Amino acid sequence: MTKPAQVMVVTPHPDDAEYGVAGTVARWANEGRESIYVVCTNGNKGTSDANIKPEELVKIREEEQLAAAKLLGVREVVFLRYPDQGLEDTPQLRKELVRRLRRYQPETVVTADPYRRYIWHRDHRITGRVALDAIFPYARDHLAYPDLLEEGLHPHKVKEVLLWASEEPNYFSDITETYDLKLAALRCHKSQVGHNSYPDLEKRLRERHEMMAQGKGFQLAEAFYRIEILW
Ligand SMILES: [Zn+2]
Repeated sequence: MTKPAQVMVVTPHPDDAEYGVAGTVARWANEGRESIYVVCTNGNKGTSDANIKPEELVKIREEEQLAAAKLLGVREVVFLRYPDQGLEDTPQLRKELVRRLRRYQPETVVTADPYRRYIWHRDHRITGRVALDAIFPYARDHLAYPDLLEEGLHPHKVKEVLLWASEEPNYFSDITETYDLKLAALRCHKSQVGHNSYPDLEKRLRERHEMMAQGKGFQLAEAFYRIEILW
């Protein structure tokens, strides 16, 4: 029997969770709230370096993700290893997410907002959408997956969903104390932020999180669209 975790972060690629929710994950870890990461794709297209092979990139990015998770106090990282830019809304992906929801029984699920308009990475849109479907109704209904039930994975009701990159955030999480950890976790993703691709990462990031905290009574925030599910 797996020990439940309070939080499940469902992320499209290695590094998205660090941009979206790492400061909040680190704060929760300090408060004794455990998080699990579920990484949907293997990130094998995330490079502009023509000399690196996709399969090498997968290994590198998993190591980077594990290093970042360790820094933040994430308990476990699950890699689903779907191809980068190849995620689809399939019964298989939905079931994989239901399996983890039932196994870890999180109160809170954090993922990408699928309803961001126009230019939005397809893997992000699909991750958010399938995660929401997995939460309701599939993780909840005992007749949804009789085989999972037979494995001892019982229905589960998530209480709260937080969506990052929302165009209409309604929930602002104080990351003033854990911002440095978030930045350090982002820097673990060397294949993404290591070389000169983001020379002003720190400046841009601070400005963004200051803006999210505007008028909130603290200095730095991560912003989400929050859904409370009243079952
Ligand atoms: Zn991504």
